[in-house]
Amino acid sequence: MDWRTKKGLLIDLDGTLFRGKTVMSGAREWISSIIQENMPFLYWTNNSTRTPKAVAYHLQELGFPAKPSDVYTSSMALSDVLIANHPDQMGDAVYVVGEEGLQAALANDFRVYARDKTPTSPFAVAVGLDRQVSYDHLRYAVRFILQGAKFYATNPDRLLWENDGLSPGAGSLVTLIAFATGVTPIIVGKPEASFVHIACKKMGIDALDALVIGDNPLTDIAAGKRAGASTVLIASELQQDGSEETKADQVILSLSELLS
Ligand SMILES: [Mg+2]
Repeated sequence: MDWRTKKGLLIDLDGTLFRGKTVMSGAREWISSIIQENMPFLYWTNNSTRTPKAVAYHLQELGFPAKPSDVYTSSMALSDVLIANHPDQMGDAVYVVGEEGLQAALANDFRVYARDKTPTSPFAVAVGLDRQVSYDHLRYAVRFILQGAKFYATNPDRLLWENDGLSPGAGSLVTLIAFATGVTPIIVGKPEASFVHIACKKMGIDALDALVIGDNPLTDIAAGKRAGASTVLIASELQQDGSEETKADQVILSLSELLS
């Protein structure tokens, strides 16, 4: 498949362009070539903890050309989905279990309460990865949802890779709150098709004309396929489970293969 025939690209970060401090082979060269060809694209990540500015800075440190406006995170998507679903509640209180990336994404359009600042009646509870979470924060989130606040989550990732090993991901916190409340959250990140649709809308294209590139069949590829986009998988130890939903249109071993 030739990415040049598409109208826009959604590019996963972790495991696709870099792994820890290691840049994947061909990654910088490929990003340079898509910029050279004026191909619309977004750095597209489930990681909810960083602001777009921080993501762009991190990419620049690794040698990638990146501006904050090139970045679309699950936190930004959560804010966009809240605005779309509750246009009458803009400016109202949202209780956040999440780090700077989620708090900042919501702060433009809502009154954000997090950590030890607790509102009396938020209309929504937004949950992402929060590595400083306490039992009190979880207690507030659970109580607000039981009182009727809408329950939104950035992503369902069970685990994440950190420099020294595996850690519980956002989805593990989300699951705790879902179990306690008995309420199913509205999830906005991969593998939900909505994360593809809303990112494509940002690029001004239809998902059918987009190409999703990622290393995780269960999240990147599933999201792309559900939305009707084309998909390329960078082969890794994240094995395909054999289901049709996670089978990419093309599997490559390295981004260098996209340069020719
Ligand atoms: Mg990845």
